[in-house]
Amino acid sequence: MKITFYGAARAVTGSKHLVETSSGKRILMDCGFFQGRRKESAEKNRNFPFDPSSVSSVILSHAHIDHSGSIPTLIKKGYKGDVFTTFATRDLCNTMLQDSGHIQETDARYFNKRPYLKGLQPIEPLYTVEDAIKSMEHFRGVNFHQPFWLHRDIQAEFLVAGHVLGSALTKLTIREDDQIIKIGFTGDLGRKGLPILRDPEYFDDLDYLITESTYGDRLHDPIEDSKVQLAKAINRTVKRGGKIIIPAFSLERTQELVYDLHILTDQKEIPEIPIYIDSPLSTNITQIFKMHPECYDKETHETFTRENPFGFGKLKYTHSAEESKKLNEVRQPCVIISASGMCEAGRIRHHLRNNITDPKNTILIVGFMAENTLGRKIVEQNRFIKIFDKMYPLRAEVAVLNSFSAHADRDELLGFIKPIKNLKKVFIVHGEEGQAMALANTLREWKKFKVEVPAEGDSFDLMNNGEKIETEEIPVGKKSSNYDLK
Ligand SMILES: [Zn+2]
Ligand SMILES: [Zn+2]
Repeated sequence: MKITFYGAARAVTGSKHLVETSSGKRILMDCGFFQGRRKESAEKNRNFPFDPSSVSSVILSHAHIDHSGSIPTLIKKGYKGDVFTTFATRDLCNTMLQDSGHIQETDARYFNKRPYLKGLQPIEPLYTVEDAIKSMEHFRGVNFHQPFWLHRDIQAEFLVAGHVLGSALTKLTIREDDQIIKIGFTGDLGRKGLPILRDPEYFDDLDYLITESTYGDRLHDPIEDSKVQLAKAINRTVKRGGKIIIPAFSLERTQELVYDLHILTDQKEIPEIPIYIDSPLSTNITQIFKMHPECYDKETHETFTRENPFGFGKLKYTHSAEESKKLNEVRQPCVIISASGMCEAGRIRHHLRNNITDPKNTILIVGFMAENTLGRKIVEQNRFIKIFDKMYPLRAEVAVLNSFSAHADRDELLGFIKPIKNLKKVFIVHGEEGQAMALANTLREWKKFKVEVPAEGDSFDLMNNGEKIETEEIPVGKKSSNYDLK
């Protein structure tokens, strides 16, 4: 039995880990999209390093595109089996994969229109909205804590990961040659005390753990600070008579903000001002949150016994483009939450363009902004910001709230790993190299188990303490088929 890491290896995106048993079963954990440098990720998203039709089962940890985004491609290229995931993740994927299909179609159309490319082969979208809808036929919803069988001798179970709605830890129990091997996979690990969601659970005993390491070397501000900071930023902006513009990811961050704003309004910590959710994807996803109270924590159930946590007083979900445009005419203080999270696409760009030059307004940053994104330039407070090919002076206040994060930080990761009994080896994935290596070094100091930070394509023998399987490297320059003929 072996495991090979095909994505999110010394990087964050493209999560894909393949377990192969000696009886020929191949279990793929996650099938995520690579994001980042355009050309390189486009190539990797188009071609799998294994044959999709040879995969027996897929287990999906959660709905984020870097974990689920390549499922329609896998199916287009011949995968015939089931995609096991929680009910909430299944419903979220239905919306998010269609949105991703729509982006692929728009990108392809844009690319094919460029005049200087005339005469070249038009590119095909990676997958379409239609492909995304079709792929849903393969999804199988499974409850948390309900062991299910993938094949004879291979059992799986989902535990709560507390990262986003529906996110799961996976425990695989595989019998081979009268030996039982237990493998745990964190997917993305959440944090205790996040609004709405239940806290992450723990693995009891495992032979191998595959853990994320997004913040393997960083500590977050306490979660409790987020609500206080949010109220402060809103109150000082309202005093100036300005608007609060919040770029937020459609999944989880938007609903957390709505949840916190609901509580702050009820407690009269902020004045009753209009709050607009201006993103069709965010609105659709919020509907799915309402459908899955089984994922809420006790506090959410107690605070909102009868009420809908995602609808109150002056909160409005805008739908049409016209409604969105009308927000420009609002003169009084208000909060506008819009996507995309890093300001690279979507309606948020219009709101930034209309509000960034007024010192009364606040741009409130509540999420991670990757290098080279519009959001990052705002965080870095560049004097001029380019939006839709035009430069605008940045005069609005920029406030950054670091306490909102859906990933465990270093100490939370260590606290999660420590209680696991019988571990032989920990594989560290889903982190930039610096973060992953730092976490590996800390774990090695415990001297309790072996630690590995696999590179893309590395395989390990799970029947032999997770030892690396050395593949014969073909020396550079001897790869051409001509060489064999000489
Ligand atoms: Zn995630
Ligand atoms: Zn992730």
